[in-house]
Amino acid sequence: MTKKQPEPTIRPRERAFLVGAEIYGQAELLTLEDSLNELELLASTAGLQVVGQATQKLDAPNPATFIGPGKVEEVKALVEETQAEVVLFDEELSPRHLRELEKIFGEKVRILDRTALILDIFAQHAATREGSLQVELAQYEYRLPRLTRAWTHLARQAGGGGGRSGSVGGVGLRGPGETQLEVDRRDIRRRISHLKQELEKVRTHRQQYRARRKRSQIPVVALVGYTNAGKSTLLNHLAKADVYVADQLFATLDPTTRRVELPGGNLALFTDTVGFIQKLPTALVAAFRATLEEITEADLLLHVVDVTHSNAKAQAESVHQTLAEIGADHIPVLTALNKIDRLMDPEKARSVLESYARSVAISALRGDGIADLLQVVNELLYETYTQVMVRLPFTEGSLIAQFHELGQVERFEQQHGGVLIQGRLPGRLLARYQAYLVSQG
Ligand code: GDP
Ligand code: MG
Repeated sequence: MTKKQPEPTIRPRERAFLVGAEIYGQAELLTLEDSLNELELLASTAGLQVVGQATQKLDAPNPATFIGPGKVEEVKALVEETQAEVVLFDEELSPRHLRELEKIFGEKVRILDRTALILDIFAQHAATREGSLQVELAQYEYRLPRLTRAWTHLARQAGGGGGRSGSVGGVGLRGPGETQLEVDRRDIRRRISHLKQELEKVRTHRQQYRARRKRSQIPVVALVGYTNAGKSTLLNHLAKADVYVADQLFATLDPTTRRVELPGGNLALFTDTVGFIQKLPTALVAAFRATLEEITEADLLLHVVDVTHSNAKAQAESVHQTLAEIGADHIPVLTALNKIDRLMDPEKARSVLESYARSVAISALRGDGIADLLQVVNELLYETYTQVMVRLPFTEGSLIAQFHELGQVERFEQQHGGVLIQGRLPGRLLARYQAYLVSQG
């Protein structure tokens, strides 16, 4: 089987017309306008040229065309006027929406949605083998039910040479009575199962690596935050690491870990993660397990917030939601309010600071506040002890041993199948005992 990457959805410098909708009663963190601004930034990150936009408020999505029929006509006229080649919807379209809209807009215009765009950007930026495999899998899973003109047609056009380039990574020869669509579907299913096997192998390998790192006992600090908040810049500053920094969405896809010395000589591993974003489809979140697993196993989360962003609050909220979704909400969070060098009014920074439980104001770019930040990280990881009671099964022998080694045991009782320990644990270890916690504080 050939190892062919899926055709990119976006071709450089295509003219794109954006369509956003607000559904009444649907709780959204971003306003329609902000969401469209974000879509525009996403589009330009992918190399599209945005030529116009239209919006609509709806009680419910139209089952056939997502937006209402009147709005469809309006958009169609605007698309002709602006000579747009792509109509980009801010919401994920169902396979039916896609088919109906393609019929209406005709041969010359392609219909895309936010998810397809994000997948394309992810594909451009995946750096490790696991990252690339994950994106490719997510792309095919997204495309399989949507195999209409937008994909098959495009693939055949863009492929050039090779003759059979319309088929996706497979043999692509038509069996008796098989339509081209059926061939494409069969090829994609085959490719999906192959990708899953490959991913399993890569994961086993990574787990061994992580287990080794865990044994090294150096606590892990995961940088989380909305995309473009400044996570990579901060990691660069901390470790003088050469992590790709760009004013683009999703410049980082794969986790990058650096060793950092804290005040007093203690060590911590800081790991950069993919940016969080509104309306990141849950299926996609699940696809990026590599990055997300780093987060759920961290000892501390460093939440980087761009305080100068007009939507800082909503962005922070969406990060918290995603953390809860992936089961990382038990890990202690320290908030870094970033880009204070851009704040005209220092009073404002102070008032924002007060609204976060535990926060430090920094400029990742200039280095302001970094020393304070590391001081707090050090306190949280190494100097804060918490009173806990845990019930550990004998199968967790290493956790039992670790409590004795790094914590202070005040009471120790054998119980059926395990032990009950009461005592004090360093803050950085709390997350590891979370599943066995009886009481805390
Ligand atoms: P990430 O998506 O969270 O990894 O964000 P990046 O680290 O790639 O930064 C996104 C953009 O914000 C880049 O253009 C950075 O130069 C810029 N940036 C990051 N930190 C700061 C800061 O403290 N001050 C200013 N003015 N810009 C910053
Ligand atoms: Mg980054």
